[in-house]
Amino acid sequence: MREHTKVIKIGDRVIGGGNPVLIQSMTNTKTEDVRATVKQIQELAAAGCDIIRCAVPTFEAAKALAEIKKEISIPLVADIHFDYRLAIAAIENGADKIRINPGNIGSRSRVQAVVDAAKERQIPIRVGVNSGSLEKELVEKYHGVTAEGIVESALDKVHLIEDMGYDQLVISIKSSDVLMCARAHELIADKTDYPLHVGITEAGTLFSGNIKSAVGLGIILYQGIGDTIRVSLTGDPLEEVRSAKRILKTLGLKKGGIEVVSCPTCGRTQIDLIGLANRVERMVEDIPLDIKVAVMGCVVNGPGEAKEADIGIAGGVGTGLLIKKGEIVKKLPEDELLEALRQELLHWGEE
Ligand code: SF4
Repeated sequence: MREHTKVIKIGDRVIGGGNPVLIQSMTNTKTEDVRATVKQIQELAAAGCDIIRCAVPTFEAAKALAEIKKEISIPLVADIHFDYRLAIAAIENGADKIRINPGNIGSRSRVQAVVDAAKERQIPIRVGVNSGSLEKELVEKYHGVTAEGIVESALDKVHLIEDMGYDQLVISIKSSDVLMCARAHELIADKTDYPLHVGITEAGTLFSGNIKSAVGLGIILYQGIGDTIRVSLTGDPLEEVRSAKRILKTLGLKKGGIEVVSCPTCGRTQIDLIGLANRVERMVEDIPLDIKVAVMGCVVNGPGEAKEADIGIAGGVGTGLLIKKGEIVKKLPEDELLEALRQELLHWGEE
């Protein structure tokens, strides 16, 4: 299905039409604070964020976009609520895309003014609908907040903008109810060819937000639905990007990067495996290899259980093992294991 969506250009990136699913996040600095916002965007881009969104609640924030844009290398989306003049100001200050809910922009003429500004600069509009702000009539029609209601609301807004003569659109339909969200995406994917921005809204803290996002995005993306994603977390946006990358990799939608597998620990575990696995995960983040690394808790079963990994370490009391494809290649003092693994990875493929 993803192959059949319309290709939409956002700055120098494209989504839709079977292009790779791009990762988005949103800054949580004050957009008016150019320095802090640029710093955060640069960190997010380095971590793998493809497109960044900034809230534009004031004219000062809209003006800041022009300065921010000079310092960053990824497309910038302006997030607008209620005030159509802010949307126009964001467009004039170089936003590569705007996110609006036409339902809270107000009268038709105000929406038309925003559409005209976007059309003039040929920047796409993301039409966003949230289950929380579903129109009263649709809640009544469908006897509550439902996937059908969310889809109808989104398509009504899309048709409104199409009637105004513009079709550079991306749609997002969001609900914090994971199954409702998945159902809504299944329904809308059958009814429109516009690319879909997928995410579970208000997913929660790092723990529950990650699980809800992984389940929801997993169901949706696995069906070939979705062209760009955001994992929404009550936490550091960097965690959103890390999680989004992991979800895409797990689904086979993103290549590259080291995958760390580690045993669940058991009564045979002889080292601080939890600490070690976390250290390894951080250590490999910047190493550009596409391999599997195993971190195992004992020297008896570890090598066998790590067979599917390209390289691994297994810890024992005082000594540990370096393993390749399940074979022991070196015995080392326990405190040298991590560095030995690092050196192997840095020189991978050289022998
Ligand atoms: S590798 Fe060893 S410590 Fe880890 S789960 Fe298997 S038996 Fe237990």
